[in-house]
Amino acid sequence: MARYTGPVCKLCRREGEKLFLKGSRCLSAKCAFEKRSYTPGQHGLTRRSKLSEYGIQLREKQKVKRIYGVLESQFRNYYQKATRQKGITGENLLQVLESRLDNVIFRLGFAASRNAARQLILHRHFTVNGRPVNVPSYLLKPGDLVAVREKSRKLVVIHDAMRRLKDEAIMPWLRVDKAKMEGQFMEKPSRQDIPIQIQENLIVELYSK
Ligand code: SF4
Repeated sequence: MARYTGPVCKLCRREGEKLFLKGSRCLSAKCAFEKRSYTPGQHGLTRRSKLSEYGIQLREKQKVKRIYGVLESQFRNYYQKATRQKGITGENLLQVLESRLDNVIFRLGFAASRNAARQLILHRHFTVNGRPVNVPSYLLKPGDLVAVREKSRKLVVIHDAMRRLKDEAIMPWLRVDKAKMEGQFMEKPSRQDIPIQIQENLIVELYSK
């Protein structure tokens, strides 16, 4: 599975906003963006050129890829899938991204970040409908049941993440049972239930050129 392995906080600084890629650290004073909110690199403090229309669209796409931890070829595949579905392509694209197993594990509160969720999935700590799944990009369907594997239920890292997630932060399209350490992907989320600040129409415009 190809994935970005470079310094994560640089991605936030490059995009000029916090992307919340590192769990609790993002909310602490240790956040690199809080300390250095300028673009990384030698000229980061001095150069900030005005973006062209193409540049704005490109940055929006990069931001979404970075939030969900997806590389270009896979992102393009998701876009193609979104275009084949009924409805608004930008919304379809976000729905596909939100259906990824690593995203759902993160949103259910079993991992502190999508990156942490990916690690846990690769180590086979979760099941989908009772079967172990070690593919972070696995796309869930409405009704699918995600659970922490029996042998992994004492993992401190999972309990720490669960403690931090407040009940009101659980998405309305998910159901979580903390006692059983399981959750359900009930339905595909509508746009207003996806809490990320991006303009997905710009990505559609970029790929439509
Ligand atoms: Fe971004 Fe989190 Fe790093 Fe802050 S700590 S720069 S929000 S990844």
